[in-house]
Amino acid sequence: MMQPEQMIRDNIDRVRERIAKAAALSGRDGQDITLVCVTKNFPADAIKPALRYGADIFGENRVQELLGKYDSVHPCQWHLIGHLQTNKVKYIVDKVSLIQSVDSVRLLDEIESQSIKHGVVSNVLLQVNTSGEESKSGVSPDGIWGLLEKTASLTRVKVRGLMTIAPLYVSEVANRLHFVNTHRLYIDIKEKKYDNVSMESLSMGMSGDFESAIAEGSTMVRIGSAIFGNRIYN
Ligand SMILES: *Cc1c(COP(=O)(O)O)cnc(C)c1O
Repeated sequence: MMQPEQMIRDNIDRVRERIAKAAALSGRDGQDITLVCVTKNFPADAIKPALRYGADIFGENRVQELLGKYDSVHPCQWHLIGHLQTNKVKYIVDKVSLIQSVDSVRLLDEIESQSIKHGVVSNVLLQVNTSGEESKSGVSPDGIWGLLEKTASLTRVKVRGLMTIAPLYVSEVANRLHFVNTHRLYIDIKEKKYDNVSMESLSMGMSGDFESAIAEGSTMVRIGSAIFGNRIYN
């Protein structure tokens, strides 16, 4: 459903206030938390009010949908936040500023070769499945070290941090623990030195849980429904 322009502005204001409050509670500044507006299932015209209101980073799950909006929604940055098939890398490597969902060596290799082909450097996050929930994509915490070693051997891929999705909601405590464990992994990696790896962004938190994610160290939140309203799937 399309939200009136004013409603989207109000929603963005409210989300930014909540981000600022959550950041302040953990002694940080709301300005240091990056807001990614998640636009999946919303047409370009539904997104433009956010762009006009100063939102500058948009996130899409699917390559096809991102490409469909890319030409009409600008200037802004696009992030790919959903599972990426290797055969689709070529379509987006020169269009997105961040691929948040890298979870295999095969994908790293393909991003490297397409980045060379297109003459770009690709910034990525490694998606980690900290909860072990089988339905979630992402590399296991044990598997992540292999991806970091691989990255050290590449020339056009820079790992800028981690991304995670909380498991299906069971309890506030379970979600918190998921965020705590992911933050701990982020710090562990930060303390080690890998070429082409810098832990600058910890992407965790969505409409339903971003305040607890920020409390546990998130630096980037991915917000869809709290800004654009409930998605309608068909
Ligand atoms: C849909 C989606 C979001 C946003 O979810 P909301 O609950 O609408 O805020 C964030 N991250 C990913 C990976 C998503 O697929």
